[in-house]
Amino acid sequence: MRIDTLPRISLAFLPTPVTELKRIAAHLGGPRILIKRDDLNGLAFGGNKTRKLEFLVGEALAQGCDSVITGGSAQSNHCRQTAAAAAVAGLECHLVLGGEEPDAITGNLLLDRLLGAKVHWSGQYRKGEQIPHIAEQLRSTGKRPYVIPYGGSNPVGANGFVEAMRELAIQLEKMRQLITHIVFASSSCGTQAGMAVGARLFVPKVKVVGIRIDKDETELPFEEQMVVLANDTAKHVGAQMTFVKSDFEIRDGYLGGGYGVVGDLERNAIRLLARTEGILLDPVYTARAFGAMVDLIKKGEFSKDDCVLFWHTGGTPTLFSYAGELVRSQ
Ligand SMILES: *Cc1c(COP(=O)(O)O)cnc(C)c1O
Repeated sequence: MRIDTLPRISLAFLPTPVTELKRIAAHLGGPRILIKRDDLNGLAFGGNKTRKLEFLVGEALAQGCDSVITGGSAQSNHCRQTAAAAAVAGLECHLVLGGEEPDAITGNLLLDRLLGAKVHWSGQYRKGEQIPHIAEQLRSTGKRPYVIPYGGSNPVGANGFVEAMRELAIQLEKMRQLITHIVFASSSCGTQAGMAVGARLFVPKVKVVGIRIDKDETELPFEEQMVVLANDTAKHVGAQMTFVKSDFEIRDGYLGGGYGVVGDLERNAIRLLARTEGILLDPVYTARAFGAMVDLIKKGEFSKDDCVLFWHTGGTPTLFSYAGELVRSQ
């Protein structure tokens, strides 16, 4: 299949670990729970974007580019991992971050700076608006920039999660472990679209359940974006399959106070996992998704015979920029 010939650069220690969360499962009294630790992939605090970047930066190098540009919020995990990936590949990295430069250089922003990225603040401009402009400027000085979309979510990036499902299938077989569900934080579609393609290829009986983290429908409704990206990703990797809306399980009942707003659900999830298993979640993505999974377990969504795998997608550096929200009421 074409999937085996796509350009790729190695950025992570793979496979990422899978372990069982016995104490928390006993506490909740529901299904068995496993966790897959993409937060531990080894690239500058890890996270799910690293898998996408192995293919995106691989393509940038194959095209002879010498710089990458991407964008996100001030505390973007994607931007921090892009900065690290660019450093590994020897490429210049330009990041367009939302809003004005904050007073506190902390969390991912601190890491962006340490990793050598050139940061451009978007100010009044809308999401991603300046990216083509900066690319043009770089070209005019003789550079060859490669543009990476928000969240690394195009078919090239999503392929990282097609491969991740192959990795998981091999790992589960070695562990002699069957799972019934995968639960994780879903935002810019790349992770879930890649998982959907990869699940059909490698673990067809497993249900992929995305927990929506934010509601940005400036382009298409979320399910439609998912269908388009999954179909394009299947084509990109040379897999004969098509997707329709009903192929995606997406839960949007956990949006809370909106993107990046920490509420009780997130705070409790962080404490519960930290205090039962010694594992840290991030406040924006994984805490919301884990809190949602706990809620679904309490509501009886899964049977005792099920085995749910929580995919830890990273993001832990932002814990440090949420100190006030996380320990306030202790
Ligand atoms: C980006 C991100 C996600 C969501 O991944 P998408 O591919 O954008 O849906 C989940 N968790 C963390 C920590 C992230 O940084």
